[in-house]
Amino acid sequence: MKIVNYPHPTLRHKSKPLRRVDAELRETVRQMFALMYEHRGVGLAANQVDLPVRLFVVNLEAEPGKGEEMVFLNPVINRPKGQVEMEEGCLSLPGLYARVRRPERVHLTAFNLAGEQFEAELEGMFARVAQHELDHLDGVVFTDRLSEAGKLEVRPGLEDFEDEFRARRERGEIPADEEIRKRLAELEKRYC
Ligand code: ZN
Repeated sequence: MKIVNYPHPTLRHKSKPLRRVDAELRETVRQMFALMYEHRGVGLAANQVDLPVRLFVVNLEAEPGKGEEMVFLNPVINRPKGQVEMEEGCLSLPGLYARVRRPERVHLTAFNLAGEQFEAELEGMFARVAQHELDHLDGVVFTDRLSEAGKLEVRPGLEDFEDEFRARRERGEIPADEEIRKRLAELEKRYC
């Protein structure tokens, strides 16, 4: 398992709800936490590891054995309250940071790996991370949420990622769009 960087097509995939959880998916979740810690992240969405399912993981402490490991399946966010600007980064856009305006508090419902539904009122950092990760499941990256001025500012950084992606594809390290689409469709058939 690897983290895919912008502009990998899976980051633009709008994922369908999960309908089954099996041993392989539980193992996927375990590997996602390990990868997230390795990169010192606080959240990681399935799209970022090239998987088309509505699932993300969070540990606000970014370290194993510290904080709480939380798994969100088929998450839904609503009842946004307030607006606040905070700096965000993303493991799929390493080194790029920008201030993003989002609701300050949100209501979240999701399922855990045991198939139990839970809900929570989120605020602060937790609300921020959950909204950022849920965006990934809809094919949205945080730079899409910037103002026109903000988008201009990150443009050179995004172009560097685009150049690197092209070069890696030319070296045969990244499959063609068609091949990626086929793989995602097969996984969707299995889980969604
Ligand atoms: Zn991200």
